Amino acid sequence: MKLYLMTDMEGAAGVLNHDDWCMRTSQFYEMGREFLTLEANAAIEGFFAGGATAVSVADGHGQGAINPKLLDPRAELMRGWPQGYPLGLDSSFAGIGWVGQHAKAGTEYSHITHTQWFNYIDLSINNLSIGEFGQLALCAAELKVPVIFAAGEEAFAEEVKDLTPWAETAGVKRGVTPGKGDELTTDQYRARNLGAVHLSPERARALICQAAERAARRLARGESFGQIPLKAPFERVGRFRPTKEGEPRTVSRETHPTSVIGVLSLPFNPKPE
Ligand SMILES: [Zn+2]
Repeated sequence: MKLYLMTDMEGAAGVLNHDDWCMRTSQFYEMGREFLTLEANAAIEGFFAGGATAVSVADGHGQGAINPKLLDPRAELMRGWPQGYPLGLDSSFAGIGWVGQHAKAGTEYSHITHTQWFNYIDLSINNLSIGEFGQLALCAAELKVPVIFAAGEEAFAEEVKDLTPWAETAGVKRGVTPGKGDELTTDQYRARNLGAVHLSPERARALICQAAERAARRLARGESFGQIPLKAPFERVGRFRPTKEGEPRTVSRETHPTSVIGVLSLPFNPKPE
């Protein structure tokens, strides 16, 4: 029972904001990597306790956030996908989970909220609004790999419950900013959702380990998980903020006749809205 674990940085407990924590030049980047890597280890621990025989960890944060030196040696680490989606996922995996993930752009009461970067207002596939989680979850659906587990900020755990209610979740911090912020420029949105109430990293790891173990146990005993329904053809619509105030928003539409992985892999071609 081989499991895939996607990781991001902004949804980990103790990672307090974007600019001081999440970039290579950030003052607290190394501490943030440590928090994220230990959360990944907690999930790996739970997966093996629940019956996993192999775990592949994907370092999905833009600038990287897994510290290989600290990673549980039972797991293998994946980083770098020249072909893009599905980011190393394939149908040999029995299930997929997430740690350190944040909610999609426009989510209220979320922390360091964005999709890919702070320039997105929204991304949708066939009118289903999704974020980074949803994009890979749809790839997993096409590959028939069930979503079994997801941990990150609480608003993200709710996003998971909306899209894949059968998955086990753990919420490790809660954002405190109301409103969507759709009217903002990229830089204004980047500065927006930076307040949160965090669990201690240690407490977060305990919750993550327990949820991951529950998920793996359910899978190991043959429980069938749901699948997000897919219906070709696929249209992706990206809506983007202006860089400067007074500039127009832009929108990009791409279609693929048969494959959601295919449409997610197409380049964007934004035009004024
Ligand atoms: Zn992200």
